[in-house]
Amino acid sequence: MGEKALQGVSAAPGITVGAAVVLDRPGAARVALGADPEAEAIRARDALHRVATDLEDIASALRREGRGEEADIIETGVLMAMDPQLIARVETLVVDAGLGPAEALSEAAEETALELSRLPDAMLAERADDVRSVGRRAAAYVEGRARTATDGVLIATTLGPADVAELAPTAKGIVLAAGGVTAHAAIVARSLGLPMVVGAGPELLDIQDGEEVVVDGDRGLVVRRPDPERVDLARGDAERRRLARNTAVARRDQPAETKDGHRVRVLANASTAAELQEATKQGAEGVGLLRTELLFLEASEWPSQAQQLSSLRPVLSRLAGRTATVRLFDFGADKTPPFLRGTSARGIDLLLESPRALTTQLAAIVEAGAGTDLRILIPMVTSTTQLAAVREALDGVLDGRPRPQLGAMIETPEAALGAGAIAQTADFLSIGTNDLTQLVLGLDREQSRTAPVMDLRVLGLITATIDAAHAARILVDVCGEAASDLKAMPVLVGLGVDELSVAAARVGQARQQVRELNFVAAQQEAEKLLHQTGHASRERV
Ligand code: PEP
Ligand code: MG
Repeated sequence: MGEKALQGVSAAPGITVGAAVVLDRPGAARVALGADPEAEAIRARDALHRVATDLEDIASALRREGRGEEADIIETGVLMAMDPQLIARVETLVVDAGLGPAEALSEAAEETALELSRLPDAMLAERADDVRSVGRRAAAYVEGRARTATDGVLIATTLGPADVAELAPTAKGIVLAAGGVTAHAAIVARSLGLPMVVGAGPELLDIQDGEEVVVDGDRGLVVRRPDPERVDLARGDAERRRLARNTAVARRDQPAETKDGHRVRVLANASTAAELQEATKQGAEGVGLLRTELLFLEASEWPSQAQQLSSLRPVLSRLAGRTATVRLFDFGADKTPPFLRGTSARGIDLLLESPRALTTQLAAIVEAGAGTDLRILIPMVTSTTQLAAVREALDGVLDGRPRPQLGAMIETPEAALGAGAIAQTADFLSIGTNDLTQLVLGLDREQSRTAPVMDLRVLGLITATIDAAHAARILVDVCGEAASDLKAMPVLVGLGVDELSVAAARVGQARQQVRELNFVAAQQEAEKLLHQTGHASRERV
């Protein structure tokens, strides 16, 4: 039999080949026909026991390495796996409700996680993901697979962000039967440089564990029984990406400084611990954009402080002493959770409509960001009034703690044109080229991620923003995709941006590109472009 290609949609670029690691199968939800529910319940209990033993081993190993704090955290997982209430619930779900053992484990863990996440005690609420992880590990055992062995192509119906964060760092690629390109899993995959295809259809789950497949994330294909030429092509692509990453990691200590000695800070866009870890390995000096809304796209109400703390802490606790730029919720448009459906507002306007949600979020950020060089970023700013309202709310939650810097995203033409006034009230500016390009040129959001930023109308607004920031003696950063675009980045540096914030997987490449630039030449090139935009008489400040 020859190749069989399943057409899906490209969610993250790159081509890779590997053994399939099938994470879920349809039809496993109920106790198999003829199976003894009591025996299935015992299998589920045994699986929890095995998870407890595994976690104990991991904790002991950590302790031997002197990593006591991490060991303590892992040990709470041991207690969860042995929790009599969890075990009883699993048994009830299998014996009385007729669920399969894997389904019962996931369901019971989810119920417990939800209960924990609603607790006012932030420390306990943070444990919600841990109990989910315990459930997933145990479910993997009853299905006869070791969940941690993911050095291959992950195949699943859908994957949550926590799954991706846990599994992606060791995976070669991801294919989902369902899922969309804007799903958070896809954003994390792109950020980690992992090829990903979504929407491959239910046939995807016919793939057997261990079967060799090629994932073509450029064309949205997954290929079973791939031809040798296709395998070679995939190996070549994967090898190129691997070498580029190794080079980036090896050069992480070299400064991001142009040949003629101009420093540019390279930060990362990271919302999960997995992304931050990758960015740090590649030399990121901190986080320039943490998109807080991404983990709450399915939320049914404004997230509580405890829920926010549990999503922020895994990232911010690893940023002690480093720049941590946390953006307020940018809900609306393509990022509208169920509870906000029907709204036409977006970004800070939407958040200001719910003052309690704003103060809750500010309090969570200030608490989770203690010990970092904390910066709070406001999305979709259009006026200084919005900044003043956020500043007032921020003052109300500080409770004696140092006041973080407050920055404005400049990502609408209105904001760029009013950047002079905004810069007078903000502590820094951050240019969101994704939205800015789309709004100026009326383009589709996906297309606006590359070259159109070089359009002279867009460049004119970027220049006006940079000049406004420098006139107010504040720094200006670019955190849209243009910051790592090979053509746009030298122009942005030439125009004078102080910081670039790029996807985790691109940190090394961006730093290397800065090292290969000559700042004076980049300035001259940028000036030449500016001549065509009407900004020819730009004054340097
Ligand atoms: C942008 O618009 O450039 C940006 C960084 O924000 P987001 O991509 O989250 O809309
Ligand atoms: Mg934006």
